[in-house]
Formats: sequence, C-alpha cells, structure tokens
Amino acid sequence: AAMREERIEKTKTVCTYCGVGCTFDVWTKDRKILKVEPQKDSPANGISSCIKGKFGWDYVNSEERITKPLIRKDGHFTEVEWDEALAYVAKRFDEIKAEHGPDALGFISSSKATNEESYLMQKLARQVIGTNNIDNCSRYCQAPATKGLFRTVGHGGDSGSIDDIAEAELVITIGSNTAESHPVLASRIKRSQKLFGQKLFVFDLRKHEMAQRADRFLQPKSGTDLVWLQAISKYIIDQGWEKREFITKWVNDFAAYKESLAKFTMDYAEKLTGIPQKTLKEIAKEIVAADKLAICWAMGVTQHQLGSDTSTAISNLLLITGNYMRNGTGAYPLRGHNNVQGCSDFGSMPDFLPGYEKVSDDAARNRYKKAWKKELPTDPGKDNHEMMHAIHDGELRSLYVLGEDTGVVDSNINYVTAAFEKLDFFVVQDLFLTKTAEYADVILPAVPSLEKEGTFTNTERRIQRLYQALDPVGESKADWKIIMEIANEMGYDWNYLHPSEIMAESASLAPLFAGVKYELLTNYNSLQWPVAADGTDSPLLYVDGFPFADNKAKLYPLDFELPYDTSEEYDLHVNNGRLLEHFHEGNMTYKSPGISRKTPQAFIEVSPELADERGIQEGAEIRLTSKAGYVTGIVHITDRVSGKELYLPLNDNGKTAVNYLTDNRVDKDSNTPAYKEIAVKMEVLKKK
Ligand code: SF4
Repeated sequence: AAMREERIEKTKTVCTYCGVGCTFDVWTKDRKILKVEPQKDSPANGISSCIKGKFGWDYVNSEERITKPLIRKDGHFTEVEWDEALAYVAKRFDEIKAEHGPDALGFISSSKATNEESYLMQKLARQVIGTNNIDNCSRYCQAPATKGLFRTVGHGGDSGSIDDIAEAELVITIGSNTAESHPVLASRIKRSQKLFGQKLFVFDLRKHEMAQRADRFLQPKSGTDLVWLQAISKYIIDQGWEKREFITKWVNDFAAYKESLAKFTMDYAEKLTGIPQKTLKEIAKEIVAADKLAICWAMGVTQHQLGSDTSTAISNLLLITGNYMRNGTGAYPLRGHNNVQGCSDFGSMPDFLPGYEKVSDDAARNRYKKAWKKELPTDPGKDNHEMMHAIHDGELRSLYVLGEDTGVVDSNINYVTAAFEKLDFFVVQDLFLTKTAEYADVILPAVPSLEKEGTFTNTERRIQRLYQALDPVGESKADWKIIMEIANEMGYDWNYLHPSEIMAESASLAPLFAGVKYELLTNYNSLQWPVAADGTDSPLLYVDGFPFADNKAKLYPLDFELPYDTSEEYDLHVNNGRLLEHFHEGNMTYKSPGISRKTPQAFIEVSPELADERGIQEGAEIRLTSKAGYVTGIVHITDRVSGKELYLPLNDNGKTAVNYLTDNRVDKDSNTPAYKEIAVKMEVLKKK
C-alpha cells in the first residue's frame, strides 16, 4: 500500500465548470483521476465542492478525445502532422486576408480556456491579422450585465466577493437557478440563512430549490423584471426613503433618473408583472430596512431583448439605496463558465483591449502598437452575433473557433450551421469532434485544464492558478501553444516558454492587471482585479468611489416596451436553463459516466395543469415548434413550472437542443440572444 501511495500525485487545480471557481487538489495516479480534495484555504469554496467538480472529470480520459490534427480532404477528416496543419491554416488565413482584407476573418475564444489563451487569441486577431472581429461566449450570457454595470458603476465585474453575498442581510436573486448553476455559492446562502437568518427573495419563473428555500418567492411574468425593479425604485423615492447622503456624495443624474420613473407606478407594475402592488410595496420597505443588500442575477435577466436595461435597473436600485462600496452589498452577475469573466477581461471582445480599454482609445491602443510593433485596427469589430450575419452576407469568409460548440449553443442552430456551410475556411480547436467541428476544414486537438498551466478568473474577479496534473493525450496541445505556432507560421516571432510570460506581458500593458504576477498566485494564493502595480488587489471593487472622471456613479434612465410578439398559434412559453448534473451543451458532462448515469436523457418539464389539459402523461413524447424550428423530447410533469410555461434543460445537443427553437432576436444593447423569449406550440407524438 505504501508503494502504491507513493505514485499518487496531488496537483492544485481550478474547477473547469462554473464561475464559482472552486479550487482543489486533484489526486492522480498515472492517467487515473482518483479524487478531488478541496482545501480549507480554497478561497471561493473552502472544503466544499459540487457533483460536477467532484465527479465530472472522466471526459479527460474519454476515448473520443481528438489526438491528432485533422484536415478535411475529399470530404473526409484525415489525420495529419502538426506541421502540415499549421502551414495550411497559416496559408489560408494569409490568402483570405490578401483577397478580402483582415475583416473577412473572425475569431471566437473559449471561456473554458485560460486568461493567457484569451490574451493570445486577441493578439492573433489584432496583431497578426489586423481585425477586431473577436468575441467569446459572454455574448451568450452576461454581456448585458457588463453593459448595465458599465453604464452605472463603471466596472464590468461583481462588486464584491462571494463572502460579501454570504454577509448580506438580504439577498435577492433574479433569474438565477443558483442551487443548480452555482451550487457552492448557493450553499453559502443556505448557510447564512441558518447562521444568522439572512433573508432571501427569489424572483424566477420556476419554483426551483432556492425558490423553495426563499423568504419570498415571486414569479413576475417573463421579461418584466425591469418593470418591478423600476416601480420599487420609484416607490422608494416617492416615500423619501432613498439614501440621500450616499447619493449626494457618490451619485450623478438623480433628477433625470427620477423623472424617467414617472410611468412605473405600482398600478402599471402590477398589471405587467402580475405581482400584487401590496407585495411590491412590502418588498420596497424590506429593501430599505436591510442594512446590506446584495443582488445576484443570471440568464433569466440577461437573455432577453431588454437584458442590458434590466441589468441597469438592478444597479440603479442598488445606487439609490446606498448598496455599493460596503462589504455585504453590491451587484453580482453570476458568471456561468469557469473562465467567462477572464476571457472578456483579457481582451477577447470586439470593442475592448485587455482590461476593458476601448479599441478606439488612442492612448491605450498606442501602448499595444508600440509593444507589438504593429498598427492596430481602431473600429470595434463584429461580435458573435454580427459574425453570423456577416457570413450569410458574404463579408466574413473565415472563422477560427476555439473551444466553443457554437453550432449548438448560439441561438437559432439552423441559421448558424447554414452560416458554417458558407465559410471559405473554418478552423475548430477542441477536445472532441463536436457538432461545430463537423463543419470544419481543419480541427486542431486541444487539451483540457488538467493537462496545462495558466490562470482562470472566477465570478468574483479572482485570478487563480491551475497546475498541470497530466500529460497531454496523443499529440494534443495547450491552446496557447497552438495559437503561438499559428502566429509564428504567419511570420511572427512569439516565443513564450510558459503562460507566466504571457501574463507578464499582459500585466505590463493593461493597467487593470498591473501587479498580477505568477509569484503572487502560487498554490492557493489568488488576486482579485484591479491589481495595483505593487500587487494590492481589490476584494471590494468600489472603495474610493467609481471609475468615472468625478469619481461618481451614474443613475441611468430607462424605458420599457413589452417586446414580445404574442400569437395565439404559438401559445406556450419555453424557459430554459441548467441542470445540477450537467454543464452547457453537455460535451464534457455526458462523457462522464458518473454523471450521465443520473440524467441520461434530456426532458421537457410540463406543468400538471397543462398536462391535464392536453391529456399527456409522464414519459409522453412531444414536439415543440417555434417560428425558427422544432425539437422533440420526453415529458416530465412537475409543479416546478406552472401554467403555460415549459422548461427545457439547455444541456442537450441532439433532438431536444433548445437552440432549434431560438431565433435571431437579441438584447438591443449587447446583441445577446433573447434565449428566454421563445413562443412555441405543442404537438403530442406519443401520449405514453
Ligand atoms: Fe465546480 Fe462550480 Fe461545482 Fe464549484 S460549484 S465544484 S466551481 S461546478
């Protein structure tokens, strides 16, 4: 036993699933992953983890991993050597750039790749190609939250730490299935409820676990969160309950904001949201009475045509009640993927350089121009959504997608895959032959987090280091190495020997990360941005005011129009979200038998009332049709949904994939698809 024990390695890593950013030691023996062991000094999770972090690692050793580069030859994927694959990619990128200009190429980064890899991907797009056409999957989720926070308080990140959520007197969650999507964070709330009677208000369509545990559970009509938020703000101001002193000292534009609230009366709110005004008034009172309020929100808010405005309304409410700049308060858009925060932070965005400096900002751009010895594009590039339109229009000819199953997770699958078919050249870099990869000309084999080094940034802006636990499988390589080799094949001389050198370059150029150094990130040490040059980090984001010229935040006036197209034919509404056991499109979790045994198949939740009305039973098979497409699936009858609401887990990539139903409608300010606004009709295929 002693001998066997000696061969066990323990390596610190960061969970590769959700944005809570749990860290733990992973125990390995050869290629076997024995267990993960959270440590008490794991900053975000202490000794906790959830089923995905504990058991979701089998995909690493899946037989389905791609182990050699593949090029499509005569319609078939053929294994080739790296030299051939890299030379081919470089040649095609060069040709397309020469023929159609740099903006004919587009790049999509991965929120599962490291910060250093996001940095290199945007450097490849900007320096080597000369385009700002780069984006990442925050466009599918929290881009509206970032927008709302930029408008009001200036930084696109959580205003405090998970500890602050745990410390709040009152927590409000809006459109967040917290117990399943951010399990360890949810358990912090559950603990605070027990420890000191923390109050929890949940606003959601669906009666999920946290809704059942909440002090108040409210079900506003889909897409109307902005209305109750504004009505509560108006009521607070009408009663003279706003925090005068805080507003005078730290907040601009109060008068214009107050004026814009005129239409949001309690009558109006009750009519649109369906929540009685008596309840809304009680909630307003309890919000004001709470000394510390933290608001958490997720896709139920952002994936609407008014996603950015609703996020803005949340921030407005926090400002007038003085719930910024103190521990236990603030705005918490809960980030979905392990590194979706970092992927945006490090510049994989069409309008921002790393650290959220605008591409149009001359001073910032010149800093990069000098370091990279290259003129850089000044106009914002295309985001994910605009890239799909541009492919259909023939403007965008080539796409390089890193670790994203765009053909499953972007809205309107039929439209997106039709775009893939129009591309002149398509490179996909991934672990598996995903649905997206099936359309590629070249597939480059990447490695999962356990086979490389780098850093991830969790939802609380915490930069954490992962160490390499296993060797890459076959000839697969870390994304940063592949991107570097493509740049060098195109005539550049990047010579990073380790991700720490990429981070050092980024820290030297982006003021937000000035003091980030690998030496400060050893083992369980971490840094929350902004990090000053002397290495001081920022657990609380706003301490001496807000990052605007006069240090003051801004109240942002908003309007509301009901954006839905309602029709009698498409009479049901589809909501969608995560399951505890699965992640995203399921490419990783369905390859982990420990997990997929529990929920092997996607299902469609139907309310008991609706099931009765349509005469269907548990296990029936139905088809849902929207204006964009259809899905089929098995019925699960549950009172977690009510009336004409249906719920579809978003983790299926087959015939129940929700994005066959979604269309091209987007949030008007961020182009995030309105995934949560799907009207469908139902046909019963088998009553059971
Ligand atoms: Fe991983 Fe999130 Fe679960 Fe933590 S809560 S173990 S980060 S999936």
